[in-house]
Amino acid sequence: MTRLLFAVGVLSLFACTGTSTDSGDANCDGVVEVEQVSLRSDADGVLTVPVAVDANDDAFMVMVARDGGLVSADTVVDAEGDVRLSWEDWLSGRDSLTNAFYASSEVTSLNWPIRAEDAPLGAGEWTVYASTLDADGYPKARQDATVTVVRRSCVAGTPTLKVTVVYAQGLDEDREVATAVEAAVLRWAQIYGAYGLELDVSYASSDLATSVSEPLPGGDEYGPLYEDIGEGVVVVVADDVDGYADLYGEAGGIPGPYVASGHSAVAVSWLVHAGTDAAFTDDEVLVFGETMAHEVGHYLGLFHPVEMDWSLWDALSDTKRCTSESACEAALGDNLMFPYPVCGERSCTEQTVLSDDQSGVLGLNVGFR
Ligand SMILES: [Zn+2]
Repeated sequence: MTRLLFAVGVLSLFACTGTSTDSGDANCDGVVEVEQVSLRSDADGVLTVPVAVDANDDAFMVMVARDGGLVSADTVVDAEGDVRLSWEDWLSGRDSLTNAFYASSEVTSLNWPIRAEDAPLGAGEWTVYASTLDADGYPKARQDATVTVVRRSCVAGTPTLKVTVVYAQGLDEDREVATAVEAAVLRWAQIYGAYGLELDVSYASSDLATSVSEPLPGGDEYGPLYEDIGEGVVVVVADDVDGYADLYGEAGGIPGPYVASGHSAVAVSWLVHAGTDAAFTDDEVLVFGETMAHEVGHYLGLFHPVEMDWSLWDALSDTKRCTSESACEAALGDNLMFPYPVCGERSCTEQTVLSDDQSGVLGLNVGFR
């Protein structure tokens, strides 16, 4: 079944477009190298993923996918043999760095470095250890997995993210919706643009149902959709996400994958933003744009600076550690990644601010090139 009504390059993500042979800034061209291999986990359920880092590479992402079984990405070891990231340091804490550790689905994505303080890479043979697990999260031995490694050369120009906005069936022909979506995307582009990050946005119509699945638990529609588009971040605009009347949007992972899977999308509801009159005010358009920027922020690796229990935080040192609703709204209510819109009777607080560490996480995601 053709889901997209326009022609797109299938699997263009897997087109390698050149190799760097010299060192130096002249080669900071943001070029990505993509390798896909089939691997089998060992007797302990461990997958050993080699990552051959070039001198100009400044970030990589390892994506592990397995049919009908859980996976996690657990440990990063650099070319010197030093452990740069270990899941054991993070599982019991109250700070969130990546969801790659959590074996919650059949695909996992680990971007490295995550934070500016995790850089630089350093050339040589790196190793990422991942796991195949059973439904209870215990290691499952000798399981096949498809592993995709994306390496990015440093970016000398403006880092740019490829985005495809996909309308669920018929919504592109609804002028109220399409006008609001385009204005919201502009708002999103302004928010990221203030931090030197650019969007390259295409629009597509589709025959997706107007109520789409939640991409975090996963939906059958997203794998074929991503396969058709083949690169960047896919943002699906629907009436609603899984029937919820109060869900603005949802991302497929923190970070999300750049390979086809049931989680390879951000889904947003236009109707939840427009409200019961199904017509957009200017403020509702702004919040819609902030939702896109927020949910794609998750997809690129950002957590909320504080979760709504006020006792779990992101792992970034320059987002304030508040511990109550009032203190958090005061300290972080204007932050793009605040967990909910802060609204008074007449209007909502603009949520457009990113800390240096937050914008650093976005820029290190291999989607920006
Ligand atoms: Zn969120």
